[in-house]
Amino acid sequence: MKLYNLKNHEEQVSFAEAVTLGLGKNQGLFFPTYLPKIDSSDLEKLLEMDFISRSSKILEMFIGDEINTIELFNKVKQAFSFSGPIVRKVEENISCLEIFHGPTLAFKDFGARFMAQMLSLLNQNKDENVTILTATSGDTGAAVAHAFYKMKNVRVVILFPKGKISEFQEKMFCTLGENITTIAINGSFDECQTLVKQAFQDKDLRKKTGLNSANSINISRLLAQICYYFEAFSMVPHNKRKELIISVPCGNFGNLTAGLLAKSLGLPIKSFIAATNSNDTIPRFLKTGIWNPKETVSTISNAMDISQPNNWTRVKELFHRKKWKLKSLGYGSVSDNVTKETLLNLYKLKYISEPHAAIAYKLLKDQLKKHEYGLFLGTAHPSKFKKTVDKILNINMNIPHVLQHRISLPSLSYNMKPNFFSLKDFLLKK
Ligand SMILES: *Cc1c(COP(=O)(O)O)cnc(C)c1O
Repeated sequence: MKLYNLKNHEEQVSFAEAVTLGLGKNQGLFFPTYLPKIDSSDLEKLLEMDFISRSSKILEMFIGDEINTIELFNKVKQAFSFSGPIVRKVEENISCLEIFHGPTLAFKDFGARFMAQMLSLLNQNKDENVTILTATSGDTGAAVAHAFYKMKNVRVVILFPKGKISEFQEKMFCTLGENITTIAINGSFDECQTLVKQAFQDKDLRKKTGLNSANSINISRLLAQICYYFEAFSMVPHNKRKELIISVPCGNFGNLTAGLLAKSLGLPIKSFIAATNSNDTIPRFLKTGIWNPKETVSTISNAMDISQPNNWTRVKELFHRKKWKLKSLGYGSVSDNVTKETLLNLYKLKYISEPHAAIAYKLLKDQLKKHEYGLFLGTAHPSKFKKTVDKILNINMNIPHVLQHRISLPSLSYNMKPNFFSLKDFLLKK
């Protein structure tokens, strides 16, 4: 597989390099040089396969001969060794694609676990240690920590803003120990992200610790997410398949990019809706053509509180390469008040959801035409947002066992001020 840097097309790398580097020069994102295409007779066969076999095939189409077929199959099997996506009917012609049944109860498990498998494969013949350094505002930290837990030669260091993520979210990844180190930074998520960027710019530190990132810009995470769009399609009734609209709750726009890549492969999804909360840079851009990000605001769908989405450049590149029109992309933003109202409406339909999925549902409901069939993505288990959801719906939701167990364990985090030299010291000594 060959990829190029979106900021400098001359920089070309292999899949292995793109996975280990994460980002290219000048923080440019990598994008596939060749976009594979499935013809319609092969598509039928592919849709009949089981999730693991089909996912291996799809990933092989992109990765090519850099990894051999059997090895890739085994890695995919290990990465996706949990309950896969489920389509749950919510009302006539609208269902939720639940992709939150993984070990940390959010869709980020798919990408993080596949990335972990790829990194372990690419490092297996090296003695060097790797340090995965990442900042999290919630779900990424948990997915990454669990994906790399007890993996040889890999140390994971996760920074998070102290007191700014939910207790559940914190307990999910700060209670593991072993090769997982967590640091509560006395500051904001942006400050955590700045520390990570500074660490990557420090050549000395990079070399001595074998630094790697694990955020959503890593191409391996995106590729893994393509797979559940095929699984979703295979579960849609045959007579509705030509009229499928998928609504995606967007933050960094990785999930939507993966869906669009599935479409570019030949999966005949009619259209997508890019759904955001009040951090609506993209909906405003699609409406006016003006790029005008505002200061990020806090919402009840906190995993989507991003006003400068990293993956947008990939979306634009794909539309350009496929000669698709940006106008064909549905979009919209939903305020906290309307999100709450929507959660209540869903509850009346006997479906307990959470703020992120509710935003996608609301826009789908508004924009879906009579003859169409809609899926909205359920990106996290509602119990991860228990406090918020309980309050809005006036219920006391059951907590899954995995979460109950985690909550009873003590947090093992270090504390640190948002100071790069303290972090560097820590990374070199520990
Ligand atoms: C990360 C996340 C999102 C946003 O996904 P992107 O790929 O960043 O657009 C939406 N919902 C939940 C629950 C998330 O954790």
